[in-house]
Amino acid sequence: MCGIIAYIGKDRVKDVLLDGLEALEYRGYDSAGLYIAGAGPIKAVGPVANLRKKAALMPDGNLGIAHTRWATHGKPSEANAHPHTGRGSIWAVHNGIIENHSELRQKLMGEGRVFASETDSEVVPHLIERAMERGASFEDAVFETVRVLKGAFGLAIAHRDAPDRMVAVRMGSPLVIGVARGGRIIASDAAPVIRHTRDVVYLKDGDVAIVSADSHRIFSFLKEAVSREGETVPFGAEEAKRGGYEHFMLKEIMEGPEVLRNAIRGRIAKDGWRVKLGGLESNDERLRSIERVVIAGCGTSYYAGVVGKYLIESLADIPVEADIASELRYREPILTPKTLLIALSQSGETADTLEAVREAKRKGAFTLGIVNVVGSSIARETDAGIYNHAGPEVSVASTKAFISQTAVLALVALFLGSQRNLGASRRKEVLEELSALPEKMERILANRGLVERIAKRYAESGSMLYIGRKYMMPLAYEGALKLKEVSYIHAEGYGAGELKHGPLALVSESFPVFALAPRDSVYEKTLSNMEEVRARGADVIALVTEGDAEASRIAKETIEIPETIECLYPALAAVPLQLFAYYAAVARGLNVDRPRNLAKSVTVE
Ligand code: GLU
Repeated sequence: MCGIIAYIGKDRVKDVLLDGLEALEYRGYDSAGLYIAGAGPIKAVGPVANLRKKAALMPDGNLGIAHTRWATHGKPSEANAHPHTGRGSIWAVHNGIIENHSELRQKLMGEGRVFASETDSEVVPHLIERAMERGASFEDAVFETVRVLKGAFGLAIAHRDAPDRMVAVRMGSPLVIGVARGGRIIASDAAPVIRHTRDVVYLKDGDVAIVSADSHRIFSFLKEAVSREGETVPFGAEEAKRGGYEHFMLKEIMEGPEVLRNAIRGRIAKDGWRVKLGGLESNDERLRSIERVVIAGCGTSYYAGVVGKYLIESLADIPVEADIASELRYREPILTPKTLLIALSQSGETADTLEAVREAKRKGAFTLGIVNVVGSSIARETDAGIYNHAGPEVSVASTKAFISQTAVLALVALFLGSQRNLGASRRKEVLEELSALPEKMERILANRGLVERIAKRYAESGSMLYIGRKYMMPLAYEGALKLKEVSYIHAEGYGAGELKHGPLALVSESFPVFALAPRDSVYEKTLSNMEEVRARGADVIALVTEGDAEASRIAKETIEIPETIECLYPALAAVPLQLFAYYAAVARGLNVDRPRNLAKSVTVE
C-alpha cells in the first residue's frame, strides 16, 4: 500500500520520479505510473522498468507525481494504476484505503462524473475538481476534500494549471518531505529521498502540506498553520528501505498495529455490532444455508485457520474443520453444496490451497478466499473473497499476514454468527475489543527489548517446546514454526494437554519450554502443565496477561501481553512469538529475511 514520490524543482523531474520509484520497489507493487505537469500521465503494469520504457518519449517538466501501486480495490491494470484524475485538471496519487469511497463514488456519479478506474482512490481528484468548479481555490478544494474522506490516505496532488506547487496529505499512510537544494520531494519514506538530501520533515496524521520548489507550509485539515521540526535522516539507503529497521521481518512485525487497523477498517457498521463484508453480504442466502465449514491453508496460514476454526465454532455455532491444504486436496474430503470452504493464503497463489479451492468447487461447495494479494489466483477463483489489506510482506517468514488473518477470521465468524444465533451484545463486545487491539499491540511492541534479551539467552538451544491450549494451541504451533523457519532451532508446538501423551519425555534441563498462558478459560490447566515441565528441570518462558504474578512464580522468564477477550488473544500472542524467533535468528547471525531452502510464494506443491 504502496509508494509515492513527487518532485517540484530544478532537476529533471522524470529522472527524479523514475529513480524514486525504483528506490520504492522494495515495498512490493504491481503497477506504476506518473504524471508530469505539461506532459501528461503514463502508466504501466509490472516493473518500473516498463514505465521507464514508456517514459523515454515523454517530455520533461518541473513538477511531477508518481506511484507504485499495491492494489487494494480493483485488479492490477493500467486503468487502475495511479495517478488518477477527474476531468484532467487535478491529478492525485494515493497510498492507503478510502473507506467511504463507494458512497462518495455513487454521489459523484449521480452528478454526472465519469469514473475511469475501479479504485477507491479515484474519488479524490473528482472531489477536488468538483470543489474547484464550485469556486474554491486549489488548496481550499483539497482542505474541503480531505475533511470528507474516511480511512487511510497519503496523497500527493498536482493541479495541471498550477505548476508552482503541489499538495501532500497524510492520514494514516506515512509521508515525508525532502528539502533538497534545487527543490522539494514528497515521498512515502526516506528511501527515494536520501540520494537528493538528508534533510527531511516527517508529516503527521492530519497534516496538509503545500509544497513549492523552495518552501513548504503545513496546515491542519481545518487550515490552521502547524509547524513540524526538520530532521536529518541518520541511515543509509538500504536501511531506509527497511524503515530504519535492521530487517524486513522486524519492520513487518512492527507494522502489526497498522495491519490490524487496515483489516478492520470500514468493516464495522456505525452501530458497532454489525460486520460489513461486501463479499459475504452479496452471498447472504447461500451462507445462511451452510452447515459445515472447512478451512484450508499451508504453514502459518493453516495455523491461522485453526484459530479460525475455534472462532467460528464458538461465535457462529457451525462445525468447522481446519486442514492442511496439501492433505485436503488428496484425501477425498467430504465437501457438499452446504459446505463453506475458506482458503487462507497470503500470496493468493499457494499451489496446494488453490487446488483445494478447485476440488471444493468441483464438489459444489461454496468457496471463500481470504488473501492478501488483490487479483491473485485464489482471489479470482473463489466464489467470494475478503482481502487482508496487510500490505506487501517481503520477509519470507509470515508475520503481519497472520495477524490480519486472525482479525479477518474474527469478522467472518461474527458475520456467520449474525446469520445464526449470535446476539448483538456479544458481537458488539468482540468488535469493541477488536478495535482496541492495535493500541494493545503497540504496548507489546514497545516492550520488545525484553523479548530480545530472553531470545538472546536461548538462542543456542538445541530444541524448544511450545505449549498452549484452546486458542493458544495453534499459536504454539505457529511459535515453533517461526522459530524453525528463521533461527533453524528445532522446535515443536503441542497442545499442552498432550504433554503427558509423549512429549514430556523430551523435557529436561536443557529443553526450554515456551508456555502460552494468558488469562483465558484454560489458564489454570496450562499453569499445571507449566508446573509439570518445571518439575523436570526445564526453563519455562511464559507468555502471560499483564500483572499475572502466579504464572511468573513458575516461569523463569515472563512476557506480558495486555488483557483481551479469549478469542482475540491470538493476534496479541503472535507478536512476542514472532519477536522471539526474530531475535533468536539475529543472535545466531542468520539471514532472517531469506531463510535457507524457503521461498515467499509457494506456487508448486
Ligand atoms: N487503495 C488504492 C488502490 O487500490 C491505493 C493502493 C496503494 O496504496 O497502492 O488503488
